[in-house]
Amino acid sequence: MSRILDGKAVAASVKEKVGAGVAELKEEGISVGLAVILVGDDPASKIYVENKKKACEAVGIKSFQYVLDKSTSEGELLSLISDLNGEKSVNGILCQLPLPEHIDEQKVIAAISPEKDVDAFNISNVGRIMIGNFDFLPCTPAGIIEILDNYNIDIEGKNCVVIGRSNIVGKPMAMLLMHRNGTVTVCHSKTKNLAEITSKADILVSSVGKANFVTADMVKEGAVVIDVGMNRVGGKLYGDVCFDEVANKASYITPVPGGVGPMTISMLMKNTLTAAKRQNGR
Ligand code: NAP
Repeated sequence: MSRILDGKAVAASVKEKVGAGVAELKEEGISVGLAVILVGDDPASKIYVENKKKACEAVGIKSFQYVLDKSTSEGELLSLISDLNGEKSVNGILCQLPLPEHIDEQKVIAAISPEKDVDAFNISNVGRIMIGNFDFLPCTPAGIIEILDNYNIDIEGKNCVVIGRSNIVGKPMAMLLMHRNGTVTVCHSKTKNLAEITSKADILVSSVGKANFVTADMVKEGAVVIDVGMNRVGGKLYGDVCFDEVANKASYITPVPGGVGPMTISMLMKNTLTAAKRQNGR
């Protein structure tokens, strides 16, 4: 039976450190602020935004919420972002994705000033991640590295397989594992013989978005299995991994909920503190 990687506990310790950092800045008269923009009324997005607000409150970051009607035009959204780019009390700006279809997501991401881009989705931050010279890392992959570090799981020289190649999870995950000297393979929907590849992984990260996708026969005995998936089936949350059968084979595994999910928000808090420090010459 594998050991559970307790993302909730690791996230709590990250938040505690962020809280201390925010308090230190406050003593110097510097407050830390995060602007969160939500366009439309997607129920999952509403929950994520609410959770971000609560996390801000818990660590002493001031949160500025902008809830815009789904009919908001691209121009109006870009104008709000431009205002927030110039607003000194706002250190980080996050626009909750997905956006309504009439708004070009890439245009919006590009409009956020790189210094305030705490999601690290802006092309200049993505480029900096590529060359390994970064202030911010995308929250979910950074949270996964934090979990691995916390449990002293060495990445160097390991066969790392990432399933999924999205810009927000799969690609940056592969990059971060590579920076840590892992030997990385990225799989996607066109990959042939997926199980053959995944069953050679010492560290397997699944970010597919399909419940019960990773079965025990796809996993190497003793592998570390990281489940990024958040799949709602009949109102219940499932990861990508068939937890019970894979847990019997893996050495370590993240549960869903309580694994990668809590890390994402705590890394957002960490990025916001970093942004505030940089903007104040710290
Ligand atoms: P996404 O953009 O839909 O990407 C899914 C990836 O899976 C794509 O690269 C796709 O390949 C690949 N894929 C789909 N079917 C496959 C198959 N049969 N075999 C191999 N690969 C396959 O999703 P995402 O935004 O990366 O998110 C993935 C999951 O993580 C979702 O459940 C999401 O809710 C969750 N998530 C969780 C957190 C968290 O904080 N825990 C954060 C972000 C996302 P193609 O590129 O070929 O289409």
